Amino acid sequence: MRTIELKSITEPVRAIMRQRKGEVTYYEATANDIDIKNKKLTLQTTCHDDNENMQRELQLDYDYLVVGIGAQSTTFNIPGVYENANFLKEISDSEKIRLKVLKNIETASFLKKDDPERQRLLNFVVVGGGPTGVEFAAELNDYVSQDLKKWLPDISKDIKVTLVEALPNILNMFEKSLIDYTQTFLQKENIDLKLKTMVQSVDENIVTAKMDGKEVEIPYGVLVWATGNAPTQLAKKMMNDLKEEQTSPRGLLINDRLQMLGAEDSVFAIGDCTFHPGLFPTAQVAHQEGGYLAEQFKLLHQLDQCKWEMNTANTDNTKELNKLENKLNEPFKYIHRGTLSYIGAERAIVELTIGDNKFKMHGPFAFWFWKTVYLSMCLSFKNRALVAFDWCKTYFFGRDSSV
Ligand code: NAD
Repeated sequence: MRTIELKSITEPVRAIMRQRKGEVTYYEATANDIDIKNKKLTLQTTCHDDNENMQRELQLDYDYLVVGIGAQSTTFNIPGVYENANFLKEISDSEKIRLKVLKNIETASFLKKDDPERQRLLNFVVVGGGPTGVEFAAELNDYVSQDLKKWLPDISKDIKVTLVEALPNILNMFEKSLIDYTQTFLQKENIDLKLKTMVQSVDENIVTAKMDGKEVEIPYGVLVWATGNAPTQLAKKMMNDLKEEQTSPRGLLINDRLQMLGAEDSVFAIGDCTFHPGLFPTAQVAHQEGGYLAEQFKLLHQLDQCKWEMNTANTDNTKELNKLENKLNEPFKYIHRGTLSYIGAERAIVELTIGDNKFKMHGPFAFWFWKTVYLSMCLSFKNRALVAFDWCKTYFFGRDSSV
């Protein structure tokens, strides 16, 4: 709800490249085909303003390809979701949701208090009790209780935030005591928590779900869908091209050196587009995978140089060569440092892993820890400064509610 500005968390790739040594060419384009056999990539420009004539295609040959195309929101083919729900994946999604919430509030203020349409417009439903759904429901509830309450007290009293989860608990990756704390806290904050509630279909105004074997109808004004990830069209195409090796529908299968099965000699895949036991679709995993791959490419370069020296200068570099090859064959090892989630009203839950020890915390102190971690994860110093500034701005002046 604009606690932070969108520009504060984005950084142009070209700005990052400028600070690095080495020659990098960046294309702002969509990769819409990968010919794995012939090592060719087809790109299409994204700057075309819907003008077909402006669309350009470009073919690139590659020696090595790193695929980090992320994932898309999954609907599990539940009828009506794609047509009626808002997803929460891209930055543009958050802006669409924000505008819809604000417009519904304006429309509802025209209607009488006992009008069921007013109640429907002001019912904001979030489906999926994973970190995405919980953090969004918490942030939306903060907006209602910290900002709207001051300048639209009547409307704010009638707003209801509902969080729907199919399993008996939300945030299943956390320890039981933290889950219990969060569930009690969300209920105390007036979030309507509907557990063991499996959404079955969605129409323009109503979510239909199964709750304890019974069918229930939940009218909604804004529906946010956060039930996890599914492979993108491009990932599906790659899986289809390598049917024999790519046998999982959940993502690109990789080995422990992050090489894509079926194209081990030339394609690496990292992040949410992959599926590998123990590697979850989180920023923490993707970040470490990126670091590992950078090291792998450095080693490949050193190995090439070593071989070239052996061939041209007739030097005996066998020892060095073996050392580099052994290093290159070392698998990627993920180090899990912990999991955190914001739960609203300046509270968070944190699970930290330090060596073999696990620490957990919750409440306001965990919230400050969560803030520090998020600041440290920003891409650049500029992002860090802008995010910190936005937080201060929100604290003193509230969130921006202009449409
Ligand atoms: P998720 O898969 O973690 O959670 C989705 C939830 O939706 C599940 O609990 C599932 O039971 C529920 N669900 C599925 N179908 C449903 C239905 N029909 N009706 C009701 N409930 C249904 O998805 P996510 O929250 O988007 O997270 C995706 C990944 O990103 C995860 O690995 C997560 O850890 C990571 N992530 C982490 C953070 C953080 O660390 N703070 C924040 C955002 C995302």
